[in-house]
Amino acid sequence: MKIAKWYGGKKFFIEESQIPKPLNDQLVVKIHSAGICGTDIHITQNLFPKEIPNVLGHEFSGTIHSVGPKLSKDFIGKKVTCTIYASCKECESCKNWSFMHCENSIRRDGAFCQYLLIDYGQEYFLSNDFDLEMASLVEPLACVISNLNLARLKNVNTAIVIGGGLLGLFSVAMLKLKGVKNIILSEPKNSRRNLGMEMGASHVINPYSDDIEKFISNFTDNKGVDLCIEAVGLPDLLAGSVKLVRPKGQIIMIGVSPKETIFPVDLYDLHYKEISISAAMGAGNSFEEALDTITMIYNPNLVAKRFSLNEIKKAFIEAEKGEGVKYIISPN
Ligand SMILES: [Zn+2]
Ligand SMILES: [Zn+2]
Repeated sequence: MKIAKWYGGKKFFIEESQIPKPLNDQLVVKIHSAGICGTDIHITQNLFPKEIPNVLGHEFSGTIHSVGPKLSKDFIGKKVTCTIYASCKECESCKNWSFMHCENSIRRDGAFCQYLLIDYGQEYFLSNDFDLEMASLVEPLACVISNLNLARLKNVNTAIVIGGGLLGLFSVAMLKLKGVKNIILSEPKNSRRNLGMEMGASHVINPYSDDIEKFISNFTDNKGVDLCIEAVGLPDLLAGSVKLVRPKGQIIMIGVSPKETIFPVDLYDLHYKEISISAAMGAGNSFEEALDTITMIYNPNLVAKRFSLNEIKKAFIEAEKGEGVKYIISPN
């Protein structure tokens, strides 16, 4: 089988290796779709440390190719989407933190390959008619849901989402689904703003040409929004969010900043306005909820382009430019 090994920076090499053999309760997934995530791009920009060589890709779907001797052969051929590593659901971290931080999980290779070995429990079986391209977007939706579950949405009438990448657009759609009335999306790219409208934004603004603070203060009678979702991961945008929310407002930090990023904000403002800032790492415990929700909010226009495994370098370059939203590798 072919596997796309990453050797730092933008260096990917397609290598040949054996299709893994599942032991005990392991399974092998034949990958159908593996999305390039913002985190993968940040890794190739050396923003997040990662061992070299490595196989990237943690948003994927496929069919079960083979199973270990402890599992039923009936699983073979079934459609699945998976978390990138298994969680025991019993350790201290699984119980009191999140499945993403399981103390007993083994992190295997990523999904930019033709066949991937996983542990039983990583897979979520899908119905026969489930669209496998959509299924590869369950993981990023789970990231959004685990973050939004931190928000008190009951009295949220007006929310702003900063950034119209996949996580921002899913945030827009989830807020709409939860009944938030005014959803403002701030995004510089026209194509993404249009997609934002399709997915439920009531207003879109361009942060390069519009004055966001002025817009929000006019729109809310100088009060500020109830909720701000920062879906980019830039400290200045997050600091700016503090000025956009009303007293006792909420900020959710979905965008991930590289390690050692400092939050440049006047702590007095934060304290005086009684603003809360929360964040959840990755899919948390929300994978199943995302699986149940995705068909309600999915928009096929989220997927900009598909690439073969051989084209992975090109795919990363296009994904980095970000004209579209999601770039997917189809290794088989
Ligand atoms: Zn991701
Ligand atoms: Zn655990």
